[in-house]
Amino acid sequence: MPRQFYVFITGGVHSGLGKGICTASIGKILQWRGFKVEPIKIDGYLNYDAGTLRPTEHGEVWVTEDGGEIDQDLGHYERFLDVNISKKNNITSGQIYWQVIKNEREGKYLGKTVQLIPHVTDEIKRRIREVAKSSKADFILVEIGGTVGDYENAIFIEAARQMRMEGEKCVYVHVSYVPIPKHIGEQKTKPTQHSVKMLRELGIQPDFIVCRSEKPLDDVRRKKISIFCDVKEEHVVSDEDLCNVYEVPLLFESQGFADKILRLLKIRPKTRVRKTKWEALIKKIKNLKKKVRIAIVGKYFDIGTFTLADSYVSVIEAVKHAAWHTGVNPEIIWVNSKEFEKNPKKVKVLNKVDGVIVPGGFGASGVEGKILAIKYCREHNKPFLGLCYGLQLAVVEFARNVCGLKKAHTTEVDPNTPYPVIDILPEQKKLIKESKYGATMRLGAYPAILKKGTLVWRLYGKRKVVYERHRHRYEVNPEYHEILQKHGLVFSGMSPDGRLVEFIELSNHKYFTGTQAHPEFTSRFMKPNPLFVGLVEASIK
Ligand code: GLN
Repeated sequence: MPRQFYVFITGGVHSGLGKGICTASIGKILQWRGFKVEPIKIDGYLNYDAGTLRPTEHGEVWVTEDGGEIDQDLGHYERFLDVNISKKNNITSGQIYWQVIKNEREGKYLGKTVQLIPHVTDEIKRRIREVAKSSKADFILVEIGGTVGDYENAIFIEAARQMRMEGEKCVYVHVSYVPIPKHIGEQKTKPTQHSVKMLRELGIQPDFIVCRSEKPLDDVRRKKISIFCDVKEEHVVSDEDLCNVYEVPLLFESQGFADKILRLLKIRPKTRVRKTKWEALIKKIKNLKKKVRIAIVGKYFDIGTFTLADSYVSVIEAVKHAAWHTGVNPEIIWVNSKEFEKNPKKVKVLNKVDGVIVPGGFGASGVEGKILAIKYCREHNKPFLGLCYGLQLAVVEFARNVCGLKKAHTTEVDPNTPYPVIDILPEQKKLIKESKYGATMRLGAYPAILKKGTLVWRLYGKRKVVYERHRHRYEVNPEYHEILQKHGLVFSGMSPDGRLVEFIELSNHKYFTGTQAHPEFTSRFMKPNPLFVGLVEASIK
């Protein structure tokens, strides 16, 4: 087997620096040189996966092709690198300890005292090498979540240290923060010095330091960081704030980051640098004049705008990709569905936007507001895209207001509704009864057979079968398929057995579509998802 290389990415000073973007960008500049890259994300929390985390707690849950519910950073990897990543590429403390304790109970360590070192570190290395082996990638990028100095990730950093000692070819990249305090106006390197000191205490001397800062790193600071952190000056990389995160690979490129990594490993690029298409798209985006205003009617508003954007990150990115490819600048308008419940007249604000998205969600809060928004779109010919819960609520709205089934609802919100147009999947009922909540939804990619001649079919390039990723427990109740269709709701895509509704649309409307899936998870920077493109195109008409 040809040689594989590991790039470990750690973080310093504080969380939320953009390590995920940095990791994805390192992957991109290596890809541009013909290398196959495989990213792994490590999370220190004890949850087995991210599926049971509230979006407001940890941001959006990313769903993989193979049905994993994992950290949103893996979304950045897929959007940048245009690869499908397996759930195995997200390693949590929960999974590691689970396996070690299981091994112990099965007598696999018989006679031994089971300890953090070597048993836990061995399991971590085994998981990393397992992904490396099956991927056959040239580069394995391992992003260690959290900040150096956390108890939670110290054991993973120790495993990373051991891997070089065991003969693996490793590069250590430390992403740190260089603040510019307002009252001084100067870039301060001390926090970075401290975080590197802590990393060195754990036995890792970084090969590169990536400095996140508001402004480009100046020469004086670069020198200082180099001397105090014992890293070559040219290995201190500036990663200043940019308007568009997809420019980060080009920023790294301008500093020769990839070539420096290759030189350190004494290897040569496999191909000439292939970044023309990426560069061209960035250039196109910079020159866009026209704007499209897309409203996201969400409900996780109680926790401030940052967390809000974090809860819907893939939807936002999918809108951007689609808008850029269509040739317009996206403007996202946040609309709190709970506001419509307090004052239904407020729904008229949707008049000011070009298109509307009702994204996924769970539970009763904000649901009536979302239904009002959908009704507004349907009645005012406003382009609308419903994602998962968005489709389900569009069906509820249609049942109530077009089919005349007053009080129709999803049983998720009203178990006693006279018309359960959205009901729990039969196989899900048992799981809930047994309190089996972890990783038990209908998850991952499933096929849908598209109906010839429909809008959705056209948008997907007239394909017969399409795969999108899912994460739901409820579905359009088969007992209501007939009445819904009779009143004009078009089922543009069904599961192959014809039981589950996957896509809906209205034919007498500018653009009214919904999907039981989450098409935002397959949207990439260079390859937007067709449903979002359809929405943007209709919105600018
Ligand atoms: N709550 C709905 C369900 O479980 C929709 C889920 C979602 O939007 N992801 O089916």
